[in-house]
Amino acid sequence: MSASLPLISDTPEKYEDPLDLMDEIDQLRKEKDATILAHFYVDGDIQDIADFTGDSLKLARDATQVTTSTIVFAGVHFMGESAKIMNPQKKVLVPDLHAGCSLAESCPPDQLAAFQEQLRSAGRQFQTVAYINTSAAVKSLCDWIVTSGNAREIIDRVPADKEILFVPDQHLGRYLSEVTGRKMILWPGSCMVHEVFSIQDLIRAKRQNPSAVIIAHPECPQNILEITDMIGGTEKMRQYVMSVEKPTTFLVATESAMIHPLQKAAPQHTFVPVPGIMASSGETCACNRCPHMALNTLQKVRDCLRDGRPEIEWKDYFAKAREVLDRSLLRG
Ligand code: SF4
Repeated sequence: MSASLPLISDTPEKYEDPLDLMDEIDQLRKEKDATILAHFYVDGDIQDIADFTGDSLKLARDATQVTTSTIVFAGVHFMGESAKIMNPQKKVLVPDLHAGCSLAESCPPDQLAAFQEQLRSAGRQFQTVAYINTSAAVKSLCDWIVTSGNAREIIDRVPADKEILFVPDQHLGRYLSEVTGRKMILWPGSCMVHEVFSIQDLIRAKRQNPSAVIIAHPECPQNILEITDMIGGTEKMRQYVMSVEKPTTFLVATESAMIHPLQKAAPQHTFVPVPGIMASSGETCACNRCPHMALNTLQKVRDCLRDGRPEIEWKDYFAKAREVLDRSLLRG
């Protein structure tokens, strides 16, 4: 997987009936002794046929509970790596090896190692905290891994006399620095999807729906978070909307596929993806769809089950990454 690889496959998929594909996948899942894990940002059809759905933290934990010999991970590359790291003996398949992550790619391991060395040479005492959206090679260079769901708790575990180098998401780092009161050295990375929300459009949407509640992912820039009513990762968003009984309109500033699990969890509400409401035609703007997650399709899930590839291969540095993931996500 590389940032330079094309996002769109050269050969467009031939149309196949989704219901037939779902039946085929179901059959293959049994034949191949496989479990399907799907992130909340992949298409709703894939979430519907998955054995487990969730955010990165939940899926990393779910991956450790799988009893089948094969895991299919519908998400992006670093998530497939995490599933393999936690299950070295299992075959881990991904529907599309090109499904990367702009945020993970904004922190190449060689550049991180060089920067850490620079800080050490300058006598700085620090621990490196990485958001889970990083490659396994980067994870192996870190002390802690966090998700938006457990970041505060993990940051509290970093000794008070150490500085924190937070990678790769500068917006999440800034937000966490504010809520925990810890000073952080921020790596200048960001997610292409969460950066695109326009503050003007969001304000306009709120004016059009004065009673609407804004919910946003902490990967969004500060100006969006400042006018947000509830900031939280995907699982926290789901729990939050389920806790609100009165039918409410939510303006949702995160990847637009997230609307699917929110609608399923709390059908009494109306969910409007930001900035979709702004189009005068009423159409949804597609710029908050993650192009990497969108590479996962039902056909590719079927094909990888049928063909037994593409597969995430074990690498030497996975062992070090496993130690970090294990103490960060699974213990405590
Ligand atoms: S939404 Fe952003 S952080 Fe998530 S996989 Fe896509 S590019 Fe990466």
